[in-house]
Amino acid sequence: MAITTRYTCDKCGTGQPTAEQFWSVGVVVEHGGEIIQYRMRTCEKQMHVCRPCLQLLGFYRESGPTPPALPAPPTLEELIREIARSQVSEMTGAT
Ligand SMILES: [Zn+2]
Repeated sequence: MAITTRYTCDKCGTGQPTAEQFWSVGVVVEHGGEIIQYRMRTCEKQMHVCRPCLQLLGFYRESGPTPPALPAPPTLEELIREIARSQVSEMTGAT
């Protein structure tokens, strides 16, 4: 006898044979104090949803376009020159 486990999305009913791409979603409401993450595991108001439903609920977002590359950081030599330049300008009053 074989036993098959089937994971079903609580929101849309889509099923699949593995728990991969399923998330537990719940809400913890607490007045004041810090919300402690482990309470999520004991939260009674939670559901298990598939990735599309997670996105519909607004908890997951596909990564967007790659942000533009940042300029290369200045080298140590450039930093030293800039510091020296600003010190000279400060001492001479030049701008
Ligand atoms: Zn779903």
